[in-house]
Amino acid sequence: MIVYRGVRFEAAEESETITTNITSSKGYLTMNTPIETIRFAELLEAEETRNKPYNGQIAYLTRDLLAAIGEDPDREGLQRTPERVARMYEELLAGYKTDLTALVNGAVFSSEYTDMVVVRDIEFHSLCEHHMLPFTGKAHVAYIPDGKIIGLSKIPRIVEMFARRLQVQERMTGQIARTLQEVLQPKGVAVVVEGIHMCAMMRGVKKSEASMVTSFMTGVFENDESLRKEFLAHLTR
Ligand SMILES: [Zn+2]
Repeated sequence: MIVYRGVRFEAAEESETITTNITSSKGYLTMNTPIETIRFAELLEAEETRNKPYNGQIAYLTRDLLAAIGEDPDREGLQRTPERVARMYEELLAGYKTDLTALVNGAVFSSEYTDMVVVRDIEFHSLCEHHMLPFTGKAHVAYIPDGKIIGLSKIPRIVEMFARRLQVQERMTGQIARTLQEVLQPKGVAVVVEGIHMCAMMRGVKKSEASMVTSFMTGVFENDESLRKEFLAHLTR
């Protein structure tokens, strides 16, 4: 039984061949096949790969999607679209594969600092899980340390880890807050996310200013209104 992994499509821009590198249990194979005769199905003959979401399968399905839309997947402009879409999803949905322990590793420090730490205007790009259309915006994160602080760059990385998945903004907001709470065990975490949703702008209600604000508070931020106000004041400065 051969399980194909990491099928990469490397169509040369000028030549008429597509090079496919297939890593199998039998080693590394390279095939050169004329582009006119290649069918993604032939590259994916191992049945077990159908259940694994990976690059080759996404390309294969995108080709089917183009045909279902009524397009000709073989016309010039679309020939490499399945491959591009597969690479795009690999990037936009990379958050599923992010290892949180590796991400924060070595970046949590002891500290006597007890005031609020605020990281604002963290840009994010996500995909809504209802339509798989982008929603983008800014996340603002605050926490009140209880003996531990985290390296500044790690908070945007945590935001990115949850943004690069199929999401709803409400859940993403909570995941960011709870993750920081778990990692740092601070006195409290506050997260506010502002997002603009393409699914609301491009279709249905067609509101061009469809901005949505969500928030999630833990610990002292839940009970202390003055702390919440202080955090929100930081965001309007
Ligand atoms: Zn949507």
